[in-house]
Amino acid sequence: KRTPLRKTKDYVEGVLSGDRTILSQAITLIESRRDEHRELGRDILEACLPHAGKSVRIGITGVPGAGKSTFIESLGRHLIEKKGKRLAVLTVDPSSSRSKGSILGDKTRMPVLSTSQKAFIRPSPSSGSLGGVARQTRETMLLCEAAGYDTVFVETVGVGQSEITVHSMTDFFLLILIAGAGDELQGIKRGVMEMADLIAINKSEGDNRQAANRARLDYQNALSLFPEPPSGKRAEVMTCSALNNKGIVEIWEQIEEYLEYVKQTGFFSENRSDQSVHWMYETIHEQLKKIFYGNEEVKASLQEIREKVRSGEISSTRAADDLIRLFKSS
Ligand code: GDP
Repeated sequence: KRTPLRKTKDYVEGVLSGDRTILSQAITLIESRRDEHRELGRDILEACLPHAGKSVRIGITGVPGAGKSTFIESLGRHLIEKKGKRLAVLTVDPSSSRSKGSILGDKTRMPVLSTSQKAFIRPSPSSGSLGGVARQTRETMLLCEAAGYDTVFVETVGVGQSEITVHSMTDFFLLILIAGAGDELQGIKRGVMEMADLIAINKSEGDNRQAANRARLDYQNALSLFPEPPSGKRAEVMTCSALNNKGIVEIWEQIEEYLEYVKQTGFFSENRSDQSVHWMYETIHEQLKKIFYGNEEVKASLQEIREKVRSGEISSTRAADDLIRLFKSS
């Protein structure tokens, strides 16, 4: 059932020429559990790297039901139909390993984009730690850029750590909220609001408009109490109706204005450099963990030591020290 592997050069040429089938296959290699596949994936990535980086990367978050996919479909259509863009839609969804299949990036949620030749939708890798999923998404983003996608959306659900991860791989961070649910209900932590470059209050239409406008002012107020963000540009709060395509163009204009500004100040490239270094460390940490837990000595003793910790026979610190000593001496 597997397609036989191609030569590195064939993958690279395929990706660079924008061949979607080969792009998909290259991504699958990056996500593979098999070392030989991943090695091939890494070679492809290395060769594509000089051609990557030329897109704008937009992170999008919000709780389930806020309207992320409706928004992405609406803004995405504007970009490919009116702005001549080529759009890649990726997701970071570490929960998908549990639910067996990603909710995010589900193609049926974006009917027009999913059938457009100018859009490439790739759901989150279906298993792995957040660190692993994040690295794979970041590498997928680079391959998509090399394949000529000039705009990348990275979507994630507004729960847990994944927003920080997406924030650290994008140039712009958009938070989608709805009015009336309250901060608590929407699970929006201060830290997430602080990362946002723009807050969009969605479902602002009909009877909802008043509440949306009130929410806009409330969030604007809340944001004004935050310290100035590193970009030097405070987040705007805007209302929209993704379902009715209202306010979407204005939001894109705001995003463009931000990007122009940070490109001019130098923050854009500085931020990307910082992110590259950040991902170097993240990758080291991820690999080290894998090497550690894959170590034969560690594997042989882990269970026994874990039970001793459980029963209180030895402390957690002592157990960790013992395991690391075993690892170092092996
Ligand atoms: P996600 O889980 O954040 O991706 O949210 P979806 O895009 O799947 O939207 C959740 C529900 O809200 C769907 O039933 C959408 O049709 C609806 N929805 C999305 N945007 C709007 C909007 O602007 N107005 C209204 N009234 N409903 C919307």
